This record gives sequence, structure tokens and C-alpha cells, in this order.
Amino acid sequence: MKSPESSIEPVKTHCPYCALQCGMTLTPGAPVVVGPRDDVPANAGGALCQKGWTAAELLTHRDRLTTPLLHGEPASWGEALDYVAGRLRALRAEHGPDSVAVFGGGGLTNEKAYQLGKFARVALGTSQIDYNGRFCMSSAAAASIRAFGMDRGLPFPVTDLAQAEVVLMAGANVAETMPPFVRHLPRLIVIDPRRTATARLAWLHLQPAPGTDLALALGLLHLVIAEGLLDKGYIAERTTGFEAVRTSLASWWPERVERVTGVPVARMRQAVHALAGAAKAVVLTGRGVEQHAKGTDTVTAFINLALALGLPGRPGSGYGCLTGQGNGQGGREHGQKADQLPGYRKIDDPAAREHVAAVWGVRPEDLPGPGRSAYELLQALGTPEGPRALLLFGSNPVVSAPRSLAVAERLRSLDLLVVSDLVMSETAALADVVLPTTQWAEETGTMTNLEGRVLLRRKAAEPPPGVRSDLQIIQGLAVRLGHRFAAEPREVFDELRRASAGGIADYSGITYERIEAETGVFWPCPSPGHPGTPRPFLDSFATPDGRARFVPVEHRAPAEETSEDYPVYLTTGRVLAQYQSGAQTRRIGPLVEAAPESFVELHPSLAAHLEIDAGDRVRVTSRRGSAEGVARITDAIRPDTVFMPFHWEGANRLTNPALDPTSRMPEFKVCAVRLEAVR
Ligand code: SF4
Repeated sequence: MKSPESSIEPVKTHCPYCALQCGMTLTPGAPVVVGPRDDVPANAGGALCQKGWTAAELLTHRDRLTTPLLHGEPASWGEALDYVAGRLRALRAEHGPDSVAVFGGGGLTNEKAYQLGKFARVALGTSQIDYNGRFCMSSAAAASIRAFGMDRGLPFPVTDLAQAEVVLMAGANVAETMPPFVRHLPRLIVIDPRRTATARLAWLHLQPAPGTDLALALGLLHLVIAEGLLDKGYIAERTTGFEAVRTSLASWWPERVERVTGVPVARMRQAVHALAGAAKAVVLTGRGVEQHAKGTDTVTAFINLALALGLPGRPGSGYGCLTGQGNGQGGREHGQKADQLPGYRKIDDPAAREHVAAVWGVRPEDLPGPGRSAYELLQALGTPEGPRALLLFGSNPVVSAPRSLAVAERLRSLDLLVVSDLVMSETAALADVVLPTTQWAEETGTMTNLEGRVLLRRKAAEPPPGVRSDLQIIQGLAVRLGHRFAAEPREVFDELRRASAGGIADYSGITYERIEAETGVFWPCPSPGHPGTPRPFLDSFATPDGRARFVPVEHRAPAEETSEDYPVYLTTGRVLAQYQSGAQTRRIGPLVEAAPESFVELHPSLAAHLEIDAGDRVRVTSRRGSAEGVARITDAIRPDTVFMPFHWEGANRLTNPALDPTSRMPEFKVCAVRLEAVR
């Protein structure tokens, strides 16, 4: 006979954290137990990283918020929502709809991202909505749309990587950010200013100075041309614009690139010969090359390289970007981005407005136009021209936004800050109203992983009493503002399907049942009988003529260069045991033990010059602020560069908000600093 425990069925779901969205099981109970799930290709065999294994600890954590807080005092849901709705009504009446802003996150489910965008445009009538994915995916997205007419992080299943002979990975440290991904990789070439855990696995490591990846990509393509490695047949049949790129590369001869980047010519030559000599090869980019004021052009340069070698749209080959946040892909498809409507539609496209307005039951002319991008929105808060109220879901910009001291000041200047979160994050601590929300295992919803595969996370645990889901919170506010909004995830998803129908990211053929039966469905999937699209570029690209576009781009220096006062470059990134702003992972015992505090990684020669010893507390100062960390001395980093992880409040006090002109991505990955030991 079965014991009561053995009759409890594990629920098949996915990890709450990164975009690999590893499959896992959760066995309900106290505590909820995480188990392996081996039917999900992204983490075949059931592998999870330490973050995934420990994720359930937060479900019952003592830091969980369980009561709405109104000016720091416990309040009922009715009191809190009445207050927020009343303030929103008053601000809109006095200052107009754009006086209220909404900020979302790349970890929200598709249903939440969709509903948040609809809430902003329909219930609030504001154009002022953007999300933290702008800090994550926007440069790669802009470059992919420019080249291929479509942005899907990996336009092929992750398991295709195993067919390639060589992968060039520029600016990503997957061995720490998504360890199970490493299993899919063949011979690896890594581009990174640090000898990271991923670079240590590589066959070849190119270590450019921060902010020079674009020059390096130009130099690699120059070599491909000079050494006769072009795939001329592919260029003729499947692309346009190559001649303009060839001309633009004339001055990027290898010795000049070595001078700019610090990467020896011999290593560049090894890299291009390995790529060109492989029967199948893939070029991947990550935040390291994307989070720059020239990130879109840098990604374009890597796409040009991939096109010149004939890779995109061929089985087992291609170009892809490595999405970071759990729903970084879906989060940018359904309308929480300032310039987009559901289905990856442009908000200024009349046909898109007409379609979505019909689904929403409003007139197209009543939908607001595009608003400010994430940093520009944060920067405008509380200013005479900017919003006076902000509703924030699934984000912690006090830790994660660039020039974060100034962002915190803007948040404090608001008439109304409302934060929905499961713990008291650094941003929630500044809020007038804090709304306690459910977390991943306590609600059902879909996520779209880095391959463009739509996945289902099933509810596996009851939330603590007093907590509501973001969908319920949005519904509660919408009702008070005179609008009917669904709060059931399936109902919202069915509406999302209709709103996305006919768009680039068409989900109309995807249902919860199909996702479960097929372990995920790739978009576009335009009808119930459609099989989904694992490899959208095999026959043609999503451009008007079906060809991929070469685009000439030029290198330029970082927005901020080193000087006498700020003689060292700072670059930032992640560590294995923490995730994003750390609001969740900095509360989980084993993760705190593994990564307890911020640190500053510096080269022995720089440490000797500054008389800094390993373990010293170090103060790092940029033109925007100071932050501290413990010195880690290692020759894995260039002598002209220091590294800080961004999971703790501090690193982003230093970072430079200079924006990419196309994607509006801030330059997180390079700024100028000085260092001193704190004695
Ligand atoms: Fe979760 Fe990403 Fe770790 Fe997989 S790799 S367990 S999705 S954090």
C-alpha cells in the first residue's frame, strides 16, 4: 500500500530563474521539494545549477511579504488598492495620463507581461511603460531585427549546438550563468576581457579590452575576407548588402585591431580559420558585448561575420543571442516594451494598432504611442516633464539600473511609488505602497525560453495567506479604474493568443494542453494544427525579400575612457550562486554561503601598484558614485580592468547610463574608475 507521501504527485515545471528555463519537478508539501526532470531538452538528464536546486527555499522564507503596506503600515487589500486607484485617478485628472508610469520585468510570465502592457495602455491610457529587459536584450534584439527581420534569441533549438563543430561565444559566461547549457557546446572560442569559468573551458580565448569587441568583430571579418574564407555562394543567394560591408572593413587590418583590442593577430587568425574550416559553426553573443552604447552595432558586426561565413539559416549552424532573464524572450514580445504591442508588433504601425485595439475593445486612436525607454523613463520620474507616479512589477532598479544613486533619488521624488514584490527589495523599501505577490511555484503561467520555446509553469504550492498574484493585483486596480480585466492565467493567455495572431511572435496556435503534450511549442505558431517553428530561417529570413541584410558598422571608443583621475576600466557581470539584483538569491542560505558579498577582481600588477592585498576592502569610484567590495587578486583579468558582480547594491552606482542610439541600452559593461584600499 502506498504511504500518503508517495501518493503526492510531483508537478512538472521549470526553474524560476534564467532563460534556459531548466525543467524541474516540485513535490508539494512542507517543504516543497525540487526534483530533476529529464524530458526538457535545455537541461536533458535533469541537470540544474545550484540556484535551481535551492529555489524552493524562498517559498517559505521568513522575509516573504504577506500584508500590503501603506506608507510602511500594514493595510488590507481593499485599503491598499483603493488608495492606489484613488491617487492614480487624481494624478491623471490633474496632470494627464502620462503622469503615471509602469515598469515591468523580464522575469514576469507572458500572461503578466501582456496584461501589464494592456493595463498601461487601456486602463491608465499612458505611453509611459517599459521594463528591465531593455537593460538585457534590447541591443541583440535590434541587431537581429535589422539583419533578419525577426528577433528570436536562438533561432534554433539549443540541442542543435551539439551538431556544430565550433561555437564562437562573445561576451557570455554560461559556465556560471546557466551551467547546464555548457553540455550542449562543442569546441569553444570565447571572447571576454576576463578568463572566466567559461573561458577556461575554451579551446581559444580572445581577451579584448572592455569596449573594443566591435573592433575585434570587424578585424575577424577583415581576416575572413583577406584570407579567402568567404562563403560566396551563400552571400549571393541569401543576403544583401555585402559590398558596403566589405568596403567599410578596408581600414580594419589585423595589426590595427590588435593595437585597439589587445588581441594578438595570431589568435584572431586561429579563430577565423576554425570557424571557416568547420562544417557547421555557430556565433553567439551575450551581455558582455551587448550592454554598450554601441551594443547594437557590435552585435551587427558579429552577425555580419556569421553571414560572411554562411552560417545563419543552415541546420546545425547560425547566429544566436543568449537571453538572460527567465522570460527575457517572451517579456519583449507581448507589450511591456515602450514601442511594442503584443505579438512583437510595432506600436506605431497602424495595422498593428487596429488589430490589438479590436482585441482590447477600444478604438485604435485611443491607444497611446511609444513612450520613454527604461533608463530615460527612470531618469524622468518626478521631473516637471516626467511621470509623477510609478507602478513597478518584477524589477529592482535601485540595484539593477545604471547610475543607481540618481535612479533612487528619482524614485524618492515621486508622488506615488507602488511596488509589487515577494520580499522587501531595495526598491520596495522606497515605496509608498508595497503589494505582496505570489511567486513562481504558487501560480500557473507560460514562459518563453532562450530558444523561443513557449513553456508552462504549473502551480505546485499554495501561496501564504494574504498574498495575491500580479494578475489579481492588476485586475483589482483595473476594476477600480472602471475596466474589466481577467485574472485567470489561462483566460489571459487565450486573449494573448488572439492579440498576437498575425504578428511576428504569433502564439495563436499554442495552448496550455499543447505545451504540456509537446514539452513546449516554438513560436511562430499561427494555428492549432501548425507544428511550431523551431528553425525559422531555414528557407528564408523574415525580411521583405527573404534575404538577410549585411549592415556596415563602425567602431568607436567607449562613452567614457580612462583618464588620470579614473585610470582603470570597470566591467560588471554575474556569479554562479546569485541571480540578477539578488533580491531572491541573496536570501537563500546555500547561495549566500557560496557568494556572501560583493568583490572586486583585479590583476596582481594593478594590486601591487595600488598596494592592495587579497581580502582588503576596496573602494571603487566612478564619476557617478562609489561602491565597496573585497579584493580578489587574479591574473584572469587584464591589468587595465577590474570586475565587480552586479548582484549587490553598489556596482551600478558606478556604471555609465550612456545609451545606445538604436536600442537605448545603457553602457553597463564599461566605465572608468579609480580604486583604493579602505583602511
Ligand atoms: Fe535555473 Fe538557469 Fe540554473 Fe537552469 S541554469 S537551474 S534555469 S538558474
